[in-house]
Amino acid sequence: MPLSTYSARCTAHRKIAHDVYEFTLATPKGFSFQAGQFVMFLVPLVDNPADVQGRAFSIASAPSEPELLFVAKIKEGGRAGRWIAEMLKAGDDVKFQGPLGNFTLAPAGKEQRLLFLATCSGIAPLRSQMLEALRQGDKRMMDMAFCVRTEEDLFWTKELAAIAQEYPNVHVHVSLSQPSSGWKGLTGHVQDIASRVITDLPERSIYVCGGPEMVKAVRIKAEQEWKIPKQRIHSEDYV
Ligand SMILES: Cc1cc2nc3c(=O)[nH]c(=O)nc-3n(C[C@H](O)[C@H](O)[C@H](O)COP(=O)(O)OP(=O)(O)OC[C@H]3O[C@@H](n4cnc5c(N)ncnc54)[C@H](O)[C@@H]3O)c2cc1C
Repeated sequence: MPLSTYSARCTAHRKIAHDVYEFTLATPKGFSFQAGQFVMFLVPLVDNPADVQGRAFSIASAPSEPELLFVAKIKEGGRAGRWIAEMLKAGDDVKFQGPLGNFTLAPAGKEQRLLFLATCSGIAPLRSQMLEALRQGDKRMMDMAFCVRTEEDLFWTKELAAIAQEYPNVHVHVSLSQPSSGWKGLTGHVQDIASRVITDLPERSIYVCGGPEMVKAVRIKAEQEWKIPKQRIHSEDYV
C-alpha cells in the first residue's frame, strides 16, 4: 500500500539542550500510530527549499497525547539538522509520511519486566512506549536508563522524574558519560549503568534506541553477559 503523506502545523519549537530541539505538531486528521513508530519528514534544503528529501524521526509522544512530539539531536551541517535549527518555527506547515516501523512494545503477557535504554534523542520512541503503556494501566516493572554526554546535553529529566513519582512501577536512571566535576548523579555509558543498577537483568526485556554503535554494544552485552534471549532484545538504530 502506498504511504500516506500528511501535512501538519508546527505548534511549538524550542531548543532544550546543547544541539537538541523539540517540536510539536498538531496531529493531522486521519493520522494514527503505535507507540514506538516513526515518520519520514519531507525535509527541504535550507539553501534551496524546493530540494526535498526524507529523514526519519521517531514520534516521542504517546498515541493518547493530543499532539505529536519530536526531539532532534542536530548533526552539524546535516539537512534535517539545519532545517530544524535554522528554518522550522511554530506556525509552519510540515509534510511527513508514515507511520513506519515495528519498534513497538510486546504485550504484557509476553514480556514481564522492561528495561528501556536510551542515549540522547534515542529516548523518543521509548518515551512514547513507556507513557502509552502506563496510561493504559500497564503495571509491569519498567526501568529507564537515559545517558547523555554532559550536563549541557540533558533534557526531559524533570518529566522523567515526575513519571517515576507518579507510577511506582517506574524507575529512572540518568547518567552522564563525560560529567563535570560537580555532577552528583550516575556516570558511565548506558549499558554500564544497567549492569550496575538493575539486579534482575536476565529477567528483562530490552528496548534500546540511539546511535548504531551504542545499540550494537548493548545487544552484545545483553546477549553475552546479561543472558537475555535475542527475541527479548528490541532495538532501533538512528543511522
Ligand atoms: C528509524 C529512525 C528514527 C530516527 N529518529 C530520530 C529522532 O527521533 N531524533 C533524531 O535526532 N534523529 C533521529 N533519527 C536520525 C535522523 O533520521 C537523521 O539521520 C539525523 O537527524 C541526521 O540527519 P541530517 O539530515 O541532519 O544529516 P544528513 O544530511 O543525513 O548528514 C549526516 C551527516 O553527514 C554530514 N554531511 C552531510 N553532507 C555532508 C557533506 N557534503 N560533506 C560532509 N559531511 C556531510 C552531516 O554534517 C551530518 O553530520 C532517526 C533515524 C532513523 C533511521
